[in-house]
Amino acid sequence: MIFNSIKRALVLAPHTDDGEFGCGATIDKLIKSGVEVYYIAFSYCEESVPEGFAPDVLKHEAKRATKKLGINSENVFVLDYKVRYFSYKRQEILEDLIVYRRKINPDLIFIPSVNDVHQDHATIANEAIRAFKNRNILSYELPWNNFKFSMDLFVEAEESSLDIKIDALKEYESQVAIRGYASEEFIKSLARVRGTQVGKDFAEVFEVVRLIN
Ligand SMILES: [Zn+2]
Repeated sequence: MIFNSIKRALVLAPHTDDGEFGCGATIDKLIKSGVEVYYIAFSYCEESVPEGFAPDVLKHEAKRATKKLGINSENVFVLDYKVRYFSYKRQEILEDLIVYRRKINPDLIFIPSVNDVHQDHATIANEAIRAFKNRNILSYELPWNNFKFSMDLFVEAEESSLDIKIDALKEYESQVAIRGYASEEFIKSLARVRGTQVGKDFAEVFEVVRLIN
């Protein structure tokens, strides 16, 4: 298996919940095979919280969601970059990534696609490629933002892993009204399509930025 030599994986989520959407089932698979998983969200998007919720609600929802995925709470970092302004903070983000690279020393990093149309996502992808030059890097799929996406690596998902991914995303109660694509139906259907492409029941797909063997 391609992940056999991986000891520490780092998931980079521009905003809380991107990592769960992009690779929740694969995170579950890695944790169950003994990989230590770390998660950094760069923004808890105070500006995007609907009325009636506390401004920092997404920070708490992210902690609960990552816990559902089985990520140790000490391995979860939620930073406070302002949503849609990441490109103005490019250098600070790069410096943060270098600090985390030293602290965590991951051998596999999950990032958005460099072709992701959301400006914050593209910034994280580009800075991560700069910061983690000699590491394995995979880009996860966020279909609503990915109009160009190279399907290089399919990772088979157990139905139980998808259920955990769905349960984790249910923790984002403040986003239910906004994010139709968080529905169980959408997540399972996409995984079914990706699985069908490679003769499996379910899968998540990744763009390979770099794999070192
Ligand atoms: Zn995002």
